[in-house]
Amino acid sequence: MPELPELEIVREVLERRLAGHTIERVTIDPKGGPLVVRDLTGRGLAAGLVGEHIQTFERRGKYLLFHLAPSDLWLVANPKLTGRFQLCAPGEKKAGPVHVTLFFENPAEELRYVDQKKMGQLYLTPDLERVPLFAEMGPEALAVTHEEFASRLKAFRGEVKSILVRAGFLAGIGNAYADEILWAARLHPYRKRTSLTPDEVRALHDAMGDVLRTSIDKVRHAMGEAVHLKPRDFFAVHMRGGQACPRCGETISAVTANQRITNFCRTCQPGGLTRGM
Ligand SMILES: [Zn+2]
Repeated sequence: MPELPELEIVREVLERRLAGHTIERVTIDPKGGPLVVRDLTGRGLAAGLVGEHIQTFERRGKYLLFHLAPSDLWLVANPKLTGRFQLCAPGEKKAGPVHVTLFFENPAEELRYVDQKKMGQLYLTPDLERVPLFAEMGPEALAVTHEEFASRLKAFRGEVKSILVRAGFLAGIGNAYADEILWAARLHPYRKRTSLTPDEVRALHDAMGDVLRTSIDKVRHAMGEAVHLKPRDFFAVHMRGGQACPRCGETISAVTANQRITNFCRTCQPGGLTRGM
């Protein structure tokens, strides 16, 4: 599941390698392709892309945006839990089932959209607001001041982790980075938002910025040009259930709810109603 740090580096690499290059050909796998492709132009995805070049690569929350010229259309990727891109030479081993491939005149590279479970979507649209849920996204997680963070938080009820992962609160954070941020802030993931003190809200905002910024650097280093990778070796607690907490040495807990795993340290992140003990 790419979140803000991974998608930011995918964007950087694609921008560096493919910006300005013309799309020569597009193939859509007849089995998986129709499930991931959403053409909102009525022209067809392939017809809409061929002959265009990608002017800029942008990111908004967990969406990757390809701005096309001369048509001014957008190719919008929402990879969700299982989608990713692979940038490689033709004939290179597939990183998973390939549903859509873009071929470029130059360089001799192809960009594949790979998705094990066909959960993600690729939209071709004249207008970003037509992409489902795009308009409802909150501001970028790294763009809010402490005051904005604290005031937005007040509009949401429930447990602090469930708020952090809501795109309507802030865009870009998913299950993995929410665990990392809460560990860094020393906050129990199931603390009620209404129980947080102003100092804890400040700690949460600081931790969010620190974790996301340092993770961008770590992902850049670990990913290199291999945009299909999801480097997570540097995580402190996420997917580390049963291992030692890197801060206090106690065992990291793992709780599964709604098919999502939550990892945290009960010693460093005390309190909260402990669910599913
Ligand atoms: Zn700990």
